Amino acid sequence: MIQFAAVNKYYGDFHVLKDINLKIEKGEVVVVIGPSGSGKSTMLRCINRLESITDGKLTINNTEVNDKKTDINQLRRNIGMVFQHFNLYPHKTVLENITIAPIMVLKQTKEEAEKTAMYFLEKVGIPDKANSYPSQLSGGQQQRVAIARGLAMKPDIMLFDEPTSALDPEMIGEVLDVMKALAKEGMTMVVVTHEMGFAKEVADRIIFMDHGQILEQAKPAEFYANPKEERARLFLSRIL
Ligand code: ADP
Ligand code: MG
Repeated sequence: MIQFAAVNKYYGDFHVLKDINLKIEKGEVVVVIGPSGSGKSTMLRCINRLESITDGKLTINNTEVNDKKTDINQLRRNIGMVFQHFNLYPHKTVLENITIAPIMVLKQTKEEAEKTAMYFLEKVGIPDKANSYPSQLSGGQQQRVAIARGLAMKPDIMLFDEPTSALDPEMIGEVLDVMKALAKEGMTMVVVTHEMGFAKEVADRIIFMDHGQILEQAKPAEFYANPKEERARLFLSRIL
């Protein structure tokens, strides 16, 4: 479903992604970890072309992401993204936040979009917040709205960039629970997170990045018990 083949990316002279080779199958849950600045967010952002690659080949469902002929809106519609800082529209209600893209982009009617929005709000456990504004919600609730907003576009792929790292500790669990449920339903997910419990429970693979390279790929149990790379060991010893 997602394939990086010898992908490199530079920011000016800075080589941020180095010869990335990665193949993610439909329904796979891949957790990406690594030190700050190692290129995790950049790799994720290349998938929906929030960043473009410098060379190599990146394909989603056999469509080349950076090909001029690729319909970028079509591509993005199919890929949901959840950020560390939620990125909700502060002056719109929860329901409006979720329905805006389905109405504008998918041309759904307001009724249709609201019905879908309520379905996903039920799913993330906060249907009673439909008419609230983001500022009236806790961080954990706002992040669940952001997930519902992503799902309302019925994407094939969901990308998560440190979705719980801005949350107070007591709210992390409620967001991870929603993500675990999604993983178990078979969503293809790429998740940048250092939450080991989540990784162990639902990840098919852990990818360890350092200095723009994928240094190690392994099953979670294997990786956490016995990382092969010295830098991965060092990194784990710091975060655990
Ligand atoms: P991570 O998510 O692993 O912390 P990032 O992908 O955000 O890493 O960043 C990788 C490196 O690229 C960092 O050194 C960062 O400073 C640099 N970087 C990120 N975005 C840009 C940009 N738009 N322009 C120049 N350098 C950037
Ligand atoms: Mg990052």
